Amino acid sequence: MNKNDSELMSLSLEKHGFRASGSPLDADIAVYNTCSVREHAENRVISRIRSHRKRMRDRGGIIVIAGCMAQRIGEQLIAAGTADMVIGPYQSPDIGSLVSRYLAGRERHSFLSQEQGDFSDRINPDLVRSVEGPEWHRWVTITHGCENYCSYCIVPFVRGKLISFPSGRILDYIRLLAANGAREITLLGQNVNQYGTDTGDIPFYRLLESSARVPGIERINFITSHPKDFIEEILHVIRDHSNISRSIHLPLQSGSDRILGLMNRGYTVGDYLRIIEKINALLPDYAVSTDLIVGFPGETEEDFSETLRSVERIRFDDAFTYAYSPREGTPAFSLPETLTRDEKISRLERLIALQREISRGRLRERIDRVEDTIIEGFSKKSDDRVRGRTYLNHNVVVRGSGDDIGKKIRIRIDGVIGATLRGTRIA
Ligand code: SAM
Ligand code: SF4
Repeated sequence: MNKNDSELMSLSLEKHGFRASGSPLDADIAVYNTCSVREHAENRVISRIRSHRKRMRDRGGIIVIAGCMAQRIGEQLIAAGTADMVIGPYQSPDIGSLVSRYLAGRERHSFLSQEQGDFSDRINPDLVRSVEGPEWHRWVTITHGCENYCSYCIVPFVRGKLISFPSGRILDYIRLLAANGAREITLLGQNVNQYGTDTGDIPFYRLLESSARVPGIERINFITSHPKDFIEEILHVIRDHSNISRSIHLPLQSGSDRILGLMNRGYTVGDYLRIIEKINALLPDYAVSTDLIVGFPGETEEDFSETLRSVERIRFDDAFTYAYSPREGTPAFSLPETLTRDEKISRLERLIALQREISRGRLRERIDRVEDTIIEGFSKKSDDRVRGRTYLNHNVVVRGSGDDIGKKIRIRIDGVIGATLRGTRIA
């Protein structure tokens, strides 16, 4: 979501005549797009901004803080002199005009309204074309905000209520992106499965199906799915369209029903396993990734062991793992923390070690298979090799050149090094 916001912000700035600087230290205007999901991320960015600001001040440069941290504590950041301007997620795609107005008059410095009337357009045909040239991958936000109120999560407070964009406009936008060179798109929402429930528009699986039919779109990804709303029709649409990614991101969060209840997630581990069984029955080949939180208040060693057991049983291809971070204003903030930081980190390390082994095993299972891959760029280690993502979203490196970037090629998987597949091009 933040990558999409950053992309929209740079397009908006370009549209208003700003140009990207070679390095952040040369910039006249530095824009920080921030995340509030965990406290650690906020603390890190604040210290980075402060040191940047000291260097900029002599040159008269300005610092703009955008994103969820701006929404959460923007006025404090202005009062403390950390930022010149703060722009919340509702208005960040309009940043080009807001910064221009600020520079012209230097009067308003804070754009944090969450009134619907101040919501700036994200399905915006004006922001399709970049002066930097066509992009083969583009993000498409289909919903903004979230009203699920998972008890640990700050998102509903900083991104506001669920707003589904009209399906007709989303599909026109995808057609326009395809006409401008996009071959891969990622449909985005905090819970894409809830698409249309606020407006009575078509359900998510129908939007996915119509997006898959847009000529020129070779791959469609969608994040994030919420297990409580993941209905079987979504799997039927995936099965019937070869250009929809078989890599499904389905956050489990915890393997303990007791903790899932305290998290207000709305499903049990049994419900989750039934979804995996359905995926298994309907899709011959697939990958599942997840998000997991360790150290939620009250998580016992037994609750944590249940998370490890679920991970062993489901064998995720990949997992994003987090130590619980209390966020002021969320329902869980009032629950007393029962683990020290060291205990949380130790559980996190055990989980990461287990998942790393499983991910390696999942990658080894791909050896000798032939996989469609979209090439994304050069390999870090060599100029005659390129890296891409297979249709199951695994990283792969293969011999190739700059001409391959953005193209779909067919690769036979030969081996695994670290967390990356190696392959040979066969077409
Ligand atoms: N909407 C998505 C969902 O429900 O899965 C994810 C949104 S959240 C920004 C991304 C991930 O951050 C969550 O899935 C969760 O695992 C993690 N997360 C959210 N709040 C957290 C917190 N307070 N502490 C630690 N991890 C957190
Ligand atoms: Fe946060 Fe839950 Fe909404 Fe995801 S679904 S953004 S975890 S409240």
